[in-house]
Amino acid sequence: MSTVDLEKYIIDIPDYPEPGVIFKDITPLMASPEGLHEAVDQIADHFKDAGVTKVMGAEARGFLIGAPVAYRLGAGFVPARKPGKLPREVYTQDYALEYGTDELQMHKDAVTADDRVLIVDDLVATGGTAVATAKLALQGGATVVGFSFVLELEFLNPRKVIGEEFDQDVFTLI
Ligand code: IMP
Repeated sequence: MSTVDLEKYIIDIPDYPEPGVIFKDITPLMASPEGLHEAVDQIADHFKDAGVTKVMGAEARGFLIGAPVAYRLGAGFVPARKPGKLPREVYTQDYALEYGTDELQMHKDAVTADDRVLIVDDLVATGGTAVATAKLALQGGATVVGFSFVLELEFLNPRKVIGEEFDQDVFTLI
C-alpha cells in the first residue's frame, strides 16, 4: 500500500458554484507529478486483472484520469461527450440533474460486444454521470466491469445509485 497522501492535493472551495456547496478542486492533484502518478497507478493496479479493454470517461474531467488509466492498462479510451460534440453516429443516454436532465453521447462504433469497460471519473457525487456513462457502454453491447473515482462524496450515497443498476466493483481513492 502506498504512503502518498492524495487528500492533501484536494482543495475545498466553499459556496462554489453556488451558496451552500463545497466544491472539491482536484486540479492541484492533476498538477502534481506525484499526485497524478499515484492516482492513476492505484486505479490501474486495482483493475489490472479485470481484463479491461476500454476505459470510458465523461466530459471533461473524466478524460484527464481515464486516458492515463487506459494507457497503463493497455486498454483504449472512449469519451462520453456532451450532446452535439461527436461527429459521427452516436448513442444517447439521459440522466437526472438536481434540476432537470442532461445527456451524454458515445460514438456507436466506440465499443463492441467483446469489450470489457471500466468507467472512470475524477469525482463521484450522486452517481448519475457514472451510471449514464456505463449505460452508454451497455447500449454499445459491451460489458461493464467496474467503476473508479479519485474522490467519492460518500454523504451523497453514490454507491446506492450505482448499485441499483450495476453490481460491479466500485473503487475510490479518497
Ligand atoms: P454526479 O453525476 O452527481 O456523480 O457528479 C459527478 C460529476 O460532476 C463528475 O463528472 C465531476 O467531475 C463533477 N463534479 C461534481 N461535483 C464536483 C466537485 O465538487 N468537484 C469536481 N467535480 C465535481
